[in-house]
This record gives sequence, C-alpha cells and structure tokens, in this order.
Amino acid sequence: MKNIYLDYAATTPCDPQVIAAMEPYFFEKFGNASSLHAYGQEAKKAVEDSRVALADFIGAKPEEIIFTSGGTESDNSVLFGVASALEKKGNHIITSAIEHHAITEPSKFLQKKGFKLTYLPVDKDGLVSGEDLKNAITDKTILVSIMHANNEIGTIEPIQKLATIAKEKGIYFHTDAVQTVGHIPVDVNDLNVDLLSLSAHKFYGPKGVGALYVRKGTRLETFIRGGDQEKGRRASTHNTSGIVGLAKAVELCKNNMESEFKFQASLRDRLLKEIPIRIPEVRLNGHENLRLPNNVNFSIRYIEGESMLLSLDMLGIALSTGSACTSSSLEPSHVLLAIGLDHGTAHGSLRITLGRWTKESDIDYLLEKLPPVVEKLRAMSPLYERKNT
Ligand code: PLP
Repeated sequence: MKNIYLDYAATTPCDPQVIAAMEPYFFEKFGNASSLHAYGQEAKKAVEDSRVALADFIGAKPEEIIFTSGGTESDNSVLFGVASALEKKGNHIITSAIEHHAITEPSKFLQKKGFKLTYLPVDKDGLVSGEDLKNAITDKTILVSIMHANNEIGTIEPIQKLATIAKEKGIYFHTDAVQTVGHIPVDVNDLNVDLLSLSAHKFYGPKGVGALYVRKGTRLETFIRGGDQEKGRRASTHNTSGIVGLAKAVELCKNNMESEFKFQASLRDRLLKEIPIRIPEVRLNGHENLRLPNNVNFSIRYIEGESMLLSLDMLGIALSTGSACTSSSLEPSHVLLAIGLDHGTAHGSLRITLGRWTKESDIDYLLEKLPPVVEKLRAMSPLYERKNT
C-alpha cells in the first residue's frame, strides 16, 4: 500500500540532516548550558550559535530571541506577558476570529480575568481588514495579535499594513508566524512587528522547541519563572539538542526555500485547478493568490470531512479536515465559520498540505483516488440525495 503524507501543516518529519546535527547533544555533548565547566560551555556555545543563526534568518538581533518549547508557549507568553506588563496602561487586546487555539484560549482566559478582547472578523477569503483594525483600537488597547498565515486555509495576512496601523498608535503588534517561518520569507523589520512566534516542527525541525522574537525595548512579563536562563526571560534548562535542531532546520530552509516554494506552489496550483474539474460542487477555502505555497483547502459539499479522511487513510493518504488540534472535536472549525461557511459545508472540508518530500506522483495518486471516494460517499449521503430530488 502507498504511504502518502499530505499533512505538513500539522507537523513535518524531522529532516535527517537535522537529526544528525542534534545527535551529539544527547550523549557526547550533553552538558547543561548554564554550567561553568567545559561541558556546560560547549552546550552554551551551541545554544548561542543557534540563536545567531535564527536571528539572522528572521532579521532580528540575537538578544531579541527567546527559545521556548514551541508555538503554543510563545503565543501564551505574548498574551500573558504583555497583559501583565501593561495592565496599568490598558486592558484591551485585539486579535482575529481565525487565530490558532494557542492564541484564542489564552485570550478567553484573559477575558475571564477582566480584559476586553476584540476578535476582528475576516472576509470570505480569510483576510483581516485594516479599516476594522483602525476602528477597533481604543486608548486602552495594549496589544494586537494577528497570525501571519492561517494554519487551516493558508491565507497570508497583510501583516506589515496591520502592524503599521497599531504601531502608529504606540500599540505592540504580535504575529503568530508558526506556519510561515521556513516556508516564505519572514523578516521582523519588513513585517514591522514587535513580537513573533515560531515553532521548529513546522519546518523540518524537532517537536517541542520554538522561539519568541521580542523587539528590543518591548515590555513583557516573564511567566515561566525559575532559573535565570534566557536572561531571566524564560526559565528551565536549555533544550540544547532541540535548539541545535531548530538552527539546522533554519539553515536547510535558508538554502532550499526558494526552490521548495516554487515546486510546492506548482503542485498546489495543480490541485487548485484539477480538484474542481474532477469533483463537482466544491468550494475553495482561503485566498486564491495570497496563500501559503503548500496549502490547499476545499469544502466538498454534502459529505463529512471525517468520512473522506478515513476513506483516504485506508488508501494510504494522510491529510486533515481542519487543524490537528480540533480534529477530535465535532464542532466545525471556527476558521471556516469565520469565512462564512454554513455548518454543513464547513464539516465537508479537506486540508491538503504539501512539503519537502511531496512528489508529483503523490498528487497523481490523490487526484486518482479522491473523486471515487467522494462519489461513493455522496451516493450514501442523505443530503446529496435530497439535493438531487
Ligand atoms: N500557531 C499555529 C498557527 C499553529 O499552526 C500551531 C500548530 O499547529 C501552533 C501555533 C502551535 O505550535 P506548537 O505545536 O509548536 O505548540
């Protein structure tokens, strides 16, 4: 049976070169980066070299990088850290209706604690409007957090424009760039952001390690307290092997991003063109052009995404119906509802995400197998039957 992985937005395999770079840091070079002896200094050098590599990749200064356990921790640190540092200045935070749960859950928590949250709507393609942002800002606004690209529908937001609106009013701007770093160019100065989250396992690095970019001078309260690692901004013994793996993943992305972008975008465009030709009554979710090079998301009407996912899994094709975090829930995705889909259409969505090891023949196989699966499921669907009578 074939084994075709088309769920790279959920997570990517660790590149073998990343694994090789990490390997010495488990036994040979196992030191604690905070220790003063040679073992410690060796680990410390590896952490600091990695910091320089990551900073260079996103246009930051090394001292503006805090290593974390991943995207969720980086996002939580921003919301709780800014809320706590600036609570005397204001209690209003603006975010969007399509953020990852790593933003929406801490937002809801802050709301319970008395903060005012505004969730900006998006248009039918998933774009946040600058006008809406301008209108939402009050003299109590302390933070705006809008994701760089959406993990479900792949829409890339106009971050530079949105960040400039916030910064002209002296308000901090954060972007969750977990789906973009390593896939499209990301530069903190071009984007004009104060804070940016990223996660290694989304760009062929290991799971459980990521970073938060914090522009010099940005006030952020620490909430993981303990040792004085990361200059007291994030306690806990450094995950040296993970950090080294993140830096190696960065190096590989730097060298390959342009060619990978072109190839994946060509496969994506083939799917965007051919799926609607081969399957009637589908709807593209996300923006036609302003989208990640590796993301395809369609709603296939009258059937359930879960049934398609399981049928395709039996044929050796792994993909997703929404974000990995919501795939066990029966609630339709908040992102698909936010772009205006009704519950039924939202339930029939399929996310296909491509990556470094996706081949043209994988796309051929999917295009061969998907239409009969849809036809079979529609033949059993009472909704489809009703529509045809
Ligand atoms: N933000 C976005 C946009 C994501 O796609 C994800 C992961 O799915 C996260 C945050 C969470 O990142 P991590 O898995 O590293 O905690």
